[in-house]
Amino acid sequence: MQADFRIGHGYDVHRLAEGRRCVLCGVEIPCRFGPDGHSDADAPLHALMDAMLGALALGDIGALFPDTDERWRGANSVELLGIVRERMRGTGYRLANADLTIVLEAPRLAPYIPLMRETVAAALSAPVGAVSVKATTEEGLGFTGGGDGIAATAVVLLVAG
Ligand code: MG
Repeated sequence: MQADFRIGHGYDVHRLAEGRRCVLCGVEIPCRFGPDGHSDADAPLHALMDAMLGALALGDIGALFPDTDERWRGANSVELLGIVRERMRGTGYRLANADLTIVLEAPRLAPYIPLMRETVAAALSAPVGAVSVKATTEEGLGFTGGGDGIAATAVVLLVAG
């Protein structure tokens, strides 16, 4: 029997590196450093995709888009999100809402949040009101506080139909 609702959680971390583009939730942020990785390393979108796949018990993005596969080198995570969206649709679910948190010491992300929400909502064919993106710092503590990395979490609720 198919449940009416399914909940999922995702978490992702990337190192920050000088000279890397800083693309978060599909939005390029002017910055002299950015998340390092095989794809565009868009940590909040990776957390979101893992939350969606987790909600559906379909594994994780490491299995779906392995970093040993050259197809995904430099991949645009908004396009990967579109693939996950189709996987979700194939199971008969759609997004009820998503709540993302980006943990990053700098730069300040507040000016980019509205465009991030619009970008994610468009990629999921969901209303902007269904997508929350928040940003926080860890007050100088740990790997995000020291500027070594970025972390992101996401929770999603999927609804049947
Ligand atoms: Mg990642």
